[in-house]
Amino acid sequence: MKATVYEGPRSVAVKEVPDARIERPTDVLVRITTTNICGSDLHMYEGRTDFEEGRIFGHENMGEVVAVGDGVDRVRVGDLVCLPFNISCGFCRNCEKGLTAFCLTTPDNPKMAGAAYGFADMGPYDGGQAELLRVPYGDHNCLVLPEEARERQSDYVMLSDIFPTGWHATQLACVQPGDTVVIYGAGPVGLMAALSATLKSASKIMVVDRHPDRLALAEEIGAIPIDDSKVSPVDQVNEQTDGLGADRGCECVGYQAHDPQGHEHPNLTLNNLVQSVKFTGTIGVVGVFIPQDPGSPDKLYKEGEIAFDYGLLWFKGQTIGNGQANIKAYNRQLCGLIQAGKAKPSWIVSHELPLDKAPEGYQHFDARDNGWTKVLMHPDG
Ligand code: NAD
Ligand code: ZN
Repeated sequence: MKATVYEGPRSVAVKEVPDARIERPTDVLVRITTTNICGSDLHMYEGRTDFEEGRIFGHENMGEVVAVGDGVDRVRVGDLVCLPFNISCGFCRNCEKGLTAFCLTTPDNPKMAGAAYGFADMGPYDGGQAELLRVPYGDHNCLVLPEEARERQSDYVMLSDIFPTGWHATQLACVQPGDTVVIYGAGPVGLMAALSATLKSASKIMVVDRHPDRLALAEEIGAIPIDDSKVSPVDQVNEQTDGLGADRGCECVGYQAHDPQGHEHPNLTLNNLVQSVKFTGTIGVVGVFIPQDPGSPDKLYKEGEIAFDYGLLWFKGQTIGNGQANIKAYNRQLCGLIQAGKAKPSWIVSHELPLDKAPEGYQHFDARDNGWTKVLMHPDG
């Protein structure tokens, strides 16, 4: 089959690899119809991780079931399914509580929790930027989509990751109707957090970034864009909230945060959040902060440690929630919102490419080139 494989820093190739296949009775085999490039792929693409050369990328996947193992009861050949990026068992003590991002069964390392397709340090699983994908614990992991999803794949594929992840940011931040919310990052995840805050009836949503095309997408759904290359985001949020600071804050950038001049600044968004969220406010961090040393020249970031203004967080009595999103905890309800016409996450899609053009998609999305907000790929052309 064709698959997008990692070839070293900032290099991917679409190559022939052995077909994915059913390996265990609980597996489902999916023919991929849509697979996205995610900001999380860039951690590996940019060479910040120990992702091995030759491994297949892709954790935002949907497609049609082409085979099921003998132990699969619910999912059937022909079903159109969306796959949560987290691979989970459904029966461990974390999955039982809906904490599927921290599954205790799927990682191959007993000291770890959680697994994902095509990811460094998240189990041995291949990704779905390919013609076929093996889905472990298929009955649990496949969200069977309504028939209309065949014609609206660019909406429904967002249920694999970024729509539930944006929602998770607002859950961690405890967004309630009427709240004021500041979101750092207008990438795909930040834009989905803005959509989620809209769906939760936040009274004012402020989105901080410096890319005008991305800020324009935030504005399209009613958020206030804040360009931090022109103004201080902390001052702007305070001005917008009568000097109090926002009720809630979401971090949707991660440790690859830059200052507006383009210098790496891993703790910038955390410090801005602590400063622009009110006393006793709540903060949700879904941007990835991988505990590894990326060689940051300013030494703000050592192995396993990220320095930020914890003292101010403490003094302001703020609460902070973190981590990977438990996609399965939300994807069925968010699917309902898409089907009901109440959410259209495809508004951020900028490009739909054949899988063969993966190298081009990666290059432009990684450079945050103007107009390259979200790239979807189709293995069938
Ligand atoms: P992205 O890189 O496309 O978007 C990040 C945006 O942040 C960019 O538009 C960039 O201009 C902006 N930015 C950089 N520095 C900034 C700063 N100091 N202030 C404000 N904005 C700044 O990526 P994405 O796909 O939107 O993903 C964002 C983060 O979410 C990544 O770290 C990704 O790995 C993570 N993520 C986490 C989960 C999860 O389950 N927790 C799931 C998916 C993605
Ligand atoms: Zn993703």
